[in-house]
Amino acid sequence: METILLGGEPIPYVVIKKQNKNAYLRLKPDGTIAITANPAFSQARIEAFILRNADRIRRARRAILQKESLPAGMIRLWGKTIPAPAGWSEADYKRETLAAASKAVETLPPALRKTLPKDLSFRARLMRTRFGSCALATHAVTMNSVLARYDRVFFDAILIHELIHFAHPDHGKGFYGALLPLVPDYRRIRKELGVLFRSTEV
Ligand SMILES: [Zn+2]
Repeated sequence: METILLGGEPIPYVVIKKQNKNAYLRLKPDGTIAITANPAFSQARIEAFILRNADRIRRARRAILQKESLPAGMIRLWGKTIPAPAGWSEADYKRETLAAASKAVETLPPALRKTLPKDLSFRARLMRTRFGSCALATHAVTMNSVLARYDRVFFDAILIHELIHFAHPDHGKGFYGALLPLVPDYRRIRKELGVLFRSTEV
């Protein structure tokens, strides 16, 4: 086991030698970085690879270690751990979610705003199986209030995903052609959100 400094924090990592052409990175359940790399890769090369992925690692580690790192009387709100305001409940997360959605719509790129129904409305619900949904018939977008716990990048990606459905109902080429220019990292963000969600107690 070695350690590497990421943002000033020593993070343990292990290297698994395999006849891969490239190096691969994953996080173990205890937050240790596991690198699978060709035996020819030097330690310097492996550490450079880890550093290139530092942001991703830190986010994923936060997700994995979150349960343990949330002390009593604290809540997560938009990616920050803060003292729980008196009487804080899921209703407050829903209010935060709705406020964020209404505000985000005002700053959308004009090309996307143009495709939205005039009577667009938002709902917030705590959902177990989806992060957002778009009702084309009723012009209502429902956002999962769990998102108000996480960094805004996740909320914004899901919101834009749902809004694009007004122009592209399915997840075909046109859909991703509209989504990826606005959220180039969408697939990675969505994957990390899954990890985050699995580690969240709601
Ligand atoms: Zn969709």
